[in-house]
Amino acid sequence: MSEEKSLHFIEEIVENDLASGKYKSISTRFPPEPNGYLHIGHAKSICLNFGLALKYGGETNLRFDDTNPVTEETEYVNSIREDVNWLGFQWARERYASDYFDNLYQYAEQLIQQGQAYIDDSTPDEIAQQKGTPTQPGIRNAFANRNIDENLQLFREMRDGKYPDGSRVLRAKIDMASPNMIMRDPILYRIKHANHHRTADKWCIYPMYDFAHGQSDSIENITHSICTLEFIPHRDLYNWCIEKLHIFPSKQYEFARLNMTYTVMSKRKLLQLVQEGHVNGWNDPRMPTISGMRRRGYTPESIRDFCERIGIAKRENLIDVGLLEFCVREHLNKVALRRMVVCNPLKIVITTLGDETEWLQGENNPEDAQAAHRQIPFSKELYIERDDFMENPPKKYFRLAPMQMVRLKNAFIIRCEEVIKDADGNVTEVHCSHIPESKSGSDTSGIHVKGTLHWVSSAHAIPVQVNLYDRLFKVEDVANAAGDFKDHINESSVQTIPVAYAEPALANDPPDARFQFIRMGYFYADSERTPGQLIFNRTVTLKDTWAKEVAKG
Ligand code: ATP
Ligand code: MG
Repeated sequence: MSEEKSLHFIEEIVENDLASGKYKSISTRFPPEPNGYLHIGHAKSICLNFGLALKYGGETNLRFDDTNPVTEETEYVNSIREDVNWLGFQWARERYASDYFDNLYQYAEQLIQQGQAYIDDSTPDEIAQQKGTPTQPGIRNAFANRNIDENLQLFREMRDGKYPDGSRVLRAKIDMASPNMIMRDPILYRIKHANHHRTADKWCIYPMYDFAHGQSDSIENITHSICTLEFIPHRDLYNWCIEKLHIFPSKQYEFARLNMTYTVMSKRKLLQLVQEGHVNGWNDPRMPTISGMRRRGYTPESIRDFCERIGIAKRENLIDVGLLEFCVREHLNKVALRRMVVCNPLKIVITTLGDETEWLQGENNPEDAQAAHRQIPFSKELYIERDDFMENPPKKYFRLAPMQMVRLKNAFIIRCEEVIKDADGNVTEVHCSHIPESKSGSDTSGIHVKGTLHWVSSAHAIPVQVNLYDRLFKVEDVANAAGDFKDHINESSVQTIPVAYAEPALANDPPDARFQFIRMGYFYADSERTPGQLIFNRTVTLKDTWAKEVAKG
């Protein structure tokens, strides 16, 4: 974080609260519902909540918001833990809203005792009808007149399992004419005979989000409870509960959620992509999930950098995924090992060489002086990309062509002498001579060539699988595009090259190394490969090829 950067509005609030002595230190929480995997939007919230505590010397809890027994699973809890850790953050405490079911139950009885909550036997439809509209006040029904003892008895019977799902609810008695619809006697508890991932069958009544979140914050002494803009209307109820219960006055603040181009960011939609097989699981490298990005090769540093750059605002906007890719390239450029891999090989024979192999030095990373060198075998038979040769090139074609010279990366300048074809006229191999004085690092040839090609020695090459990923959706603003979001899926978002040819160093590189395959992009070993398999996912291209496509129109 640079010193000159101005504070965002939540930092300003925190600094004021600390300066005025309102709090001695701050506490935040990250409160995911364990009903899916975390996505890049959650990363923004994680960086904000943990970042504030780190910057101002406070603590952050990881709190699973598990009040809905039907959709929540332990698999999701585990993935969320792993993802927050991987992003580089440590929570002070791991908590669950379900840890507080006893407290919340007591709070509900307290409201009943205070005459501020009642049991309503109406059907969901009746409750909705009586609620009114934003321009029309609601109607409070006769159940609201029940006395305290009757309410208490009914609430206890609900808890004890005497009533079926949906037959009764506990409602707060607030104001059926409030301009804020959420304040029109909101439901606090509902009956749900369902097994909960942590409390099993202990409860058959569950608190609503609005009756769990603020109280959980309060129990944990959270000073700044940060959520996204859609919770603004909930703030009145958040404050009402805390005030009526006389508990620690946590405060809610809202910021704009992250929306990003060419992807979707809601767990419901992501779940659909997984369940309907549009992707191969939550950690498919095309998914905007943390686990997908990790598998694709994004680094925690680059995601944190991205979250820092997009900032914290009060108004929603759509962030260009190109910015995230820029951050990924920036980091990978500094840490990636340079390697050569040929995807679509064309055989080159260097006729001026004998049968011996020369081992050349190649920099691991020109950006990192500590990164040493690797040995690259150079021999008589090489592969280059088929695309890097043209028999009848246009002007300004700087790659290999008859009688034209190019440099082989980390090696020599070669010249194309003869093109060999099969009976159908397809080029099968290209014969070249090499300039012995032109060796990289000790070039005395005085020859300047414009093109540099990557290559591998065919006898030393190892086969690897390469997966090239593109955007999962074809339109920028998927959430607002016409029709179903799945109509906009990019059907060619992955291209697999089952056998590409890699320089041998790759066989001995650490399994978690980041790579730049020269001229091809940044790559990362696929975490789902079996031992011995060499499978690499393209993390990101070297340049923004998409911007070029758009410019071409
Ligand atoms: P989704 O809409 O994707 O299902 P959610 O808001 O229901 O997400 P939660 O598990 O409730 O998901 O979110 C945990 C925290 O992360 C909340 O504080 C929420 O506001 C925040 N969050 C969720 N999505 C985003 C986003 N796109 N940008 C920033 N913060 C987000
Ligand atoms: Mg939610």
